[in-house]
Amino acid sequence: MTANGCSYNGGICHETVEACDGCGRKVEFSSSWFCSACPEPSTKWKTGHCNLATHVSKAAAAAQQKINPLKASKRARR
Ligand code: SF4
Repeated sequence: MTANGCSYNGGICHETVEACDGCGRKVEFSSSWFCSACPEPSTKWKTGHCNLATHVSKAAAAAQQKINPLKASKRARR
């Protein structure tokens, strides 16, 4: 979404979702909030954190990484 309008899917951008609150890429156009980086914010949050979000720290995203219990126990023994 830019000041000139949306170039997505016939010129219709989707509004930001609740999870976008606090993100630096959120911009207001004609009293609605849109994302300047992604035309459909809800798809960005479907599978976890939005990869373009500025308000989600990398550490929080890394904490969600899956840990292999077998490898973790080997690591702990070292
Ligand atoms: S970058 Fe992600 S979190 Fe930020 S406004 Fe866009 S879709 Fe929402």
